[in-house]
Amino acid sequence: MAGLANTSTAEIQARDARHHWHPFSDMAALNAAGSRVVTAAEGWTLTDSEGHQVLDGMSGLWNVAVGYGRREIVDAVAEALTTLSYTNTFFQCTHPAAAAYAEAIAGLLPGHLNRIFFTSSGSEANDTAFRAARTYWDLKGKPEKKRFIARRNGYHGSTVLGASLGGMAPMHGQSGLPIEGISHIDQPYWFGDGRLLGMSPAEYGHFAAERLAVEIDRLGADTVAAFIGEPIQGAGGVVIPPDTYWPRIAEICAERDILLVADEVICGFGRTGAMWGFETFGFSPDIVTMAKAMTSGYIPCGGVAFSDEVAATLETGGEFFHGYTASGHPAACAAGLANLAIIDRERLVERVATDIGPYLAARWASLGDHPLVGETRMRGLIGAFELVRDKAALERFPADIAAGTRCRDLSVRNGLVMRAVGDTMVIAPPLVISHEAADLIVARARKTLDDLH
Ligand code: PLP
Repeated sequence: MAGLANTSTAEIQARDARHHWHPFSDMAALNAAGSRVVTAAEGWTLTDSEGHQVLDGMSGLWNVAVGYGRREIVDAVAEALTTLSYTNTFFQCTHPAAAAYAEAIAGLLPGHLNRIFFTSSGSEANDTAFRAARTYWDLKGKPEKKRFIARRNGYHGSTVLGASLGGMAPMHGQSGLPIEGISHIDQPYWFGDGRLLGMSPAEYGHFAAERLAVEIDRLGADTVAAFIGEPIQGAGGVVIPPDTYWPRIAEICAERDILLVADEVICGFGRTGAMWGFETFGFSPDIVTMAKAMTSGYIPCGGVAFSDEVAATLETGGEFFHGYTASGHPAACAAGLANLAIIDRERLVERVATDIGPYLAARWASLGDHPLVGETRMRGLIGAFELVRDKAALERFPADIAAGTRCRDLSVRNGLVMRAVGDTMVIAPPLVISHEAADLIVARARKTLDDLH
């Protein structure tokens, strides 16, 4: 980094501790320990200021789908910024990359989803979906249809609305959240719930979906605008629903005239082995929100796809009074187009479905024989294992042991970034990882489990 190359790790940490407030961090603890200073990345490998290299099993924050250091994205962004560093897309303006990128995304979606609204993040995408769904029902002459139903432990972003739609208890603990008009049903978590109810995954999928019907009927369908869910809950611990879950959710929404919003911020662009998570799970949403792998993290970008029905209805209302300064930013659209070109050329979605996905899944499943692992799961290239203290009884560690946090820290020492959601260890590597890297992920995860034992 120009001008910073000769700064010592200690100096960077001290400057950081004085002035940089990190997202989702206990700042006192972080500053006492000192942040890890990441200085470079290539492929799926991160390098820190001390020269340590770590395999990034989390694709950054689930977003670096095509891997780090892809020259063609960097070049596309540089060219875009050189030619047109900015134009708004509000006031009777567009630019070539915005039109091309919207068309390209629509081309990846099913035939009824054709109109793309650009944002800079997943939180903004979900905010847009929320406002569009409510405006839709206003324009349909049903203004009382305002409520959203989401799920406990869902994650839909960190704005006031995102945190409210999400079902994370620590965020709801913050004063005033969640905002009114949002309710949460239980997540379809077979290991943490269905198993304890003595149900097979298939039975449990139906059972968990019926919770939506019960909640809509309790509230009255004439007050509910939409249901929102991640096809696979990511930040909530890679909760992979049984295959019976989503088709029934879609039926319930259709029967009761509720819009179905798929939050594809993690699942979209190939993560689950299809372009979209809703394809993997066999349902068809009215609104799709996206971000992260849209640009593989090179430049912030998010978006919302509206169905033709939603878009046509919104058009009847004149101006949709909503937008962001960076909606359709030239650099983001250029990064997005270059990213899509890589996904297409390297057949990454097919690769996840038929090659590297099944390859890693089989090896990941082999961790299931470890005494500390209660369950392993993986779909495409998103997976998890559950830490247990007593394998026979599938009993969890007591909370004060912080097994997940210790496992995460040991894993980094063993050269692998995994994420801990409580005692669920999560992984979502770049879609481009080699077979050797997949082997390393599993070997390092096993070594970490042995160290924890
Ligand atoms: N939706 C899902 C499913 C996410 O996982 C995230 C972020 O992790 C978001 C929305 C919010 O995205 P952003 O952090 O870009 O606002």
